[in-house]
Amino acid sequence: MGGTAVPPIHGLRAFGYNQGTSQRRRAYLTEQNVSGLVTKAISGFYTVETAQGPVVAQLPGRLKQEWQNSSLVAVGDQVTISLNRDGTGTIEAVAERHSVLSRARPAAETRRLTSDQEQVLVANPDQLVLVFATQNPATNLRKLDRFLVVAEVNGLTAVICVNKIDLVGLAEAQRQFHIYQDIGYRVIYTSAVTGEGVAELRACLHDKISVLAGSSGVGKSSLLNAIEPGLGLKVREVSQATGKGMHTTRYAELFPLAEGGYVADTPGIRALALYDLEPWELDAYFREISPLVEACQFSDCSHRHEPNCAVRAAVEDGRVSPERYESYLRLREEHEMLDRSAYE
Ligand code: GDP
Ligand code: ZN
Repeated sequence: MGGTAVPPIHGLRAFGYNQGTSQRRRAYLTEQNVSGLVTKAISGFYTVETAQGPVVAQLPGRLKQEWQNSSLVAVGDQVTISLNRDGTGTIEAVAERHSVLSRARPAAETRRLTSDQEQVLVANPDQLVLVFATQNPATNLRKLDRFLVVAEVNGLTAVICVNKIDLVGLAEAQRQFHIYQDIGYRVIYTSAVTGEGVAELRACLHDKISVLAGSSGVGKSSLLNAIEPGLGLKVREVSQATGKGMHTTRYAELFPLAEGGYVADTPGIRALALYDLEPWELDAYFREISPLVEACQFSDCSHRHEPNCAVRAAVEDGRVSPERYESYLRLREEHEMLDRSAYE
């Protein structure tokens, strides 16, 4: 890129600027550029919130074909666009990401915007908010543990929201979920019906990009409505519409909060399942297990039947919850099966 009078856009990866881009075009782009946040992505069309209002933008022609299997741009990205005569925009540059929520295992590369097969669902999320209900639907701790692995793999802060505390009472809800507080996760207890905990959840979302995840029926829409009238309805309409459509994992949207911040909803989050982890890598993603494993006698300990296993010892004397250990074993088993099937 060097050797021109056009100042580089600091911290941005510029699509439009390359050896072949004429100096005149570069100067033009720099003058006409506006920047903004990508709040909606659907089939290669990106809605960018700029100071002048929303602009629908696309990648430059030569990159357009790539959108299908690339993660060049995702909701949550800060982009610089040039404005076309017809009011649409062309994405010229994307700012470096500080975090990603990705469907495949995130490579270190992703934050630097490679166009590999990895699918970035949301760029720059600040946290993953995992919503569960005390009952109706019954609490599924296996699923929670799986989501926590997803958060850890992506290096994202996870916040657990335990909703419907009116059904069982706060004390019972705490009995179910306190182990997550014990291992250092933030747990917020709420009821969309009585309004308990809603202010705390609202404060938690303030000025952040939060990805909301949870099974249907746990009360996500109700909570969003309690936080801000109408917000839950908006999110729900969109997820119902995309639930019926194709390419749902290709769709994502950030919903603005009146007091600042965004809530991200993407059908893709529901499909977050297993990454291609090596079974032993799971050790690192169970935060209370990870510091124990170096005390196991065998460096390749599976923490199942080996003698002098520090993890089993910790389960036996209550330092690791049996529930979490059970989740660990199940996930490990799944990964071992995946591993084997890869060679068959
Ligand atoms: P979503 O699918 O996660 O968006 O869940 P909804 O917000 O649609 O809620 C599912 C059902 O649970 C609805 O009938 C809600 O009225 C109910 N619900 C939501 N939050 C609460 C709560 O805190 N307490 C009780 N008792 N019911 C709730
Ligand atoms: Zn062990």
